[in-house]
Amino acid sequence: MNIEFQLKAELKCSGSLSDAVTSSDLTEFVKYCNEGVLKKGAPPGCGAEITWWDVAGEKIGLKIVSDRFVRAHDALFRLKNEFGKFLGKHRIGIRGVEIEDYEIGIEWEEGLRIKKLPFVKEIKQEEGRLRLFLDVDEYALEKRIPDRILKLLEDKCEAARWKGKSEHWELLFESGKRDFYFDKDPTEELIKRGWIRHAAGRGQWIYGPQLTKIFRAFERALLEEVCKPLGYEEMIFPKFVPWDVWKRSGHAKGIYPEAYYVCTPKTRDPEYWEEVMDYYKVTNEVPLDMIMERIEPVGGMCYAQCPPFWIFLQGKTIPDEILPITVFDRSGTSHRYESGGLHGIERLDEFHRVEIVWIGTKKQVIEHAKQLQEGYRRIFEEFMDIEWREAWVTPWFMAQEGKAGLAESKEVGTTDYEAVLPYSGKWLEFQNVSVNGNKYPKGFSVKLQSGEELWSGCSGVGLERWAAVFLAQKGFESHKWPEKFRTIVGELPEVFRFL
Ligand code: ATP
Ligand code: ZN
Ligand code: MG
Repeated sequence: MNIEFQLKAELKCSGSLSDAVTSSDLTEFVKYCNEGVLKKGAPPGCGAEITWWDVAGEKIGLKIVSDRFVRAHDALFRLKNEFGKFLGKHRIGIRGVEIEDYEIGIEWEEGLRIKKLPFVKEIKQEEGRLRLFLDVDEYALEKRIPDRILKLLEDKCEAARWKGKSEHWELLFESGKRDFYFDKDPTEELIKRGWIRHAAGRGQWIYGPQLTKIFRAFERALLEEVCKPLGYEEMIFPKFVPWDVWKRSGHAKGIYPEAYYVCTPKTRDPEYWEEVMDYYKVTNEVPLDMIMERIEPVGGMCYAQCPPFWIFLQGKTIPDEILPITVFDRSGTSHRYESGGLHGIERLDEFHRVEIVWIGTKKQVIEHAKQLQEGYRRIFEEFMDIEWREAWVTPWFMAQEGKAGLAESKEVGTTDYEAVLPYSGKWLEFQNVSVNGNKYPKGFSVKLQSGEELWSGCSGVGLERWAAVFLAQKGFESHKWPEKFRTIVGELPEVFRFL
C-alpha cells in the first residue's frame, strides 16, 4: 500500500530561541536530522524528512513528510528527543508539542467508501486516493492513534473482501433422514396449549411447567451423556458483563448493535432522583430523558456466556497437570437485541443456554472438541432422533476482523449444528462447538507453567433452540417421542387452567 504522511507541528520551548541559536546552527542541525535519525531503520532512500521549518520566539514550526517506513508521527517524537538534546546545550527545554495539521494519503480502491473515522475531521476520496485529515494532539500520537486508524482501514478492506465472497459454510456431516411427526410452527402450538406465554419484554417468554420440564430433560441428557463422562464440573458465571471483559474478549470491537446495555445510577442519593419519582407520580409515565441524564452505561447483559468466566483465571499461571479444565455454566439468561429477526422461541432477545468451556494445550483442546461432538451425536440420535447436520463456519471473531483465512487450517474455528424445521423447510442453528485457539488465554493473560501455549474452546447449547428443533420434528404426541427421551422427561405437569 502506497502511503504518505504530512505532518505540521510546533515545538514549544521554555525560552526564546532567536537569542540562543543562530539560523546556521539550526540549518546544520536539521540537515543532521534529515540524514540521520529520520532515516534510521528505513531502506535506502526511504524514511522521513523535515521539508520546512521556522523559528519564532519560543516556537519551532516543522513540516515533516514521510513514507510508511518512518511514519511522520514517529519522526516527530525522534525530533522532539533530538531537539531536546540540541537545545539543552543552550539551557532551553521543550514544553510540549502542538499538532497543527496531519494528513495521511493512501492508495485506495474506488469501490470501498469510507465516510467517517475516529480522530479524522475530514476524508477526501479521489482518483484512487484516500486523504485523511486527522484531528489529533500529542497524546493521541503517543497512543499510536494514526497507526490504529491505518490498521482499522486494513481490517475494513479485508472485511469488505470477505463479504464479497459468499459466507464461508462447509458441510461436515449430515445425519440420516428421520420421520417427522409435525408440520406446523411449534411456537404456535405451544401458545395454543398454554405451555408458554409472551412475556412483557420483546423476544421474551414465560415458560410454563411443561416446557420447563422439557428444557430440564434436555439439560439432564446433556449432563449425563456428555458433561459427566467428560469430567465436567459446574460453575456459576456472572451475567452482567462490564466493559473490561468485552475489551479483553474482543466483543468490544463489534457487539454494539446487538448488546443489551446495563446502566447504573450516577448516584443513589434519593434527592438526585426525586424529580424522576415526582414526574412519574403525577403522570404515570416513566420519564426516559430524565433517567438517561442520571445513569451511566457500565456494560451489558450476558451475550456469549463464557467471556466473564475468564476473569476467574485472569493473570494466573496454571500447572500443566490439571489440564484439560472442563467446566460449564447454566446459571442464567443470555440477552441479544435481535431487532426484526425475532421469531417464536427460535430467535429471542432473552434465551437460556448451557455453556461448556474447555481449556488445555492445543492438542488437548482440538481432541476434546472431537469427544464433545461424539457425545452430542449420541444425544441427537438416541434421545432426540432428529435430522441434523454439522457445518464448518467462520467464527465471529475472525469474520469481524476479516481474518477468515486463518480458519482455513480448520484448527481454530466453529462447527455449527443445524436442524431442519419441517414447517418451513429452513435449517436452524441450534448449537455450536468452537475451538477458539489462544484467543481467551491471551486476552485474559492466562499462562501455562510449562510455557506451552494455552488454548480453549466453548460450546453453547441453546435450550429454546433444542426445543424448537425437537418439537418441530417430533411434535407434541409424547408417545411418538424416543423412548430414552420419554424416560428422562417423565409426565408433563398440568398446573394452570383458565376460565
Ligand atoms: P444465529 O446465527 O442463529 O444468530 P449465532 O451464530 O448468533 O446464531 P452463537 O453466537 O453461535 O449464535 O450462539 C450460540 C448458541 O446460542 C446458538 O447456537 C443458539 O443455540 C443460541 N442462540 C444464539 N442467539 C440466540 C437467540 N437469539 N435466541 C435463541 N438462542 C440463541
Ligand atoms: Zn463461549
Ligand atoms: Mg446471531
